[in-house]
Amino acid sequence: MGKEVIKQSIIHSSSKLVKTMGRRQTMMEKYKQQMKAYRKKRGKIDSTPFLPSDGIVYVMDSLNPDKKIKAEVLKTRIKSHREIIDSLSCPECSNAMTWDSKWEAFTCEKHGKKAIYEIVPAK
Ligand SMILES: [Zn+2]
Repeated sequence: MGKEVIKQSIIHSSSKLVKTMGRRQTMMEKYKQQMKAYRKKRGKIDSTPFLPSDGIVYVMDSLNPDKKIKAEVLKTRIKSHREIIDSLSCPECSNAMTWDSKWEAFTCEKHGKKAIYEIVPAK
């Protein structure tokens, strides 16, 4: 094997390595981007509850879970062809409450201590 051939083969293999690494990097970047998009999408998931078919919503005060209270629906919104509860009237002070995804409940801060109203099934 002549010197020139060895040199050629080194150049060839090193360029092949760069190509492979380059492709791997692209795959990694692609994966990272996908993960980023996925996390972003997950964070955006709207857990706002759907309006029951009869339109009657019951809530319970998280501090008094035994008591079922009928809540007045103030506003609804259509999401994915279904009606969701955009705003509920606070059973205590009639303040318009919106969905708090952190608590997974409707919350009111207008009457004294923060109240957390969870949606409960009618039956
Ligand atoms: Zn209130």
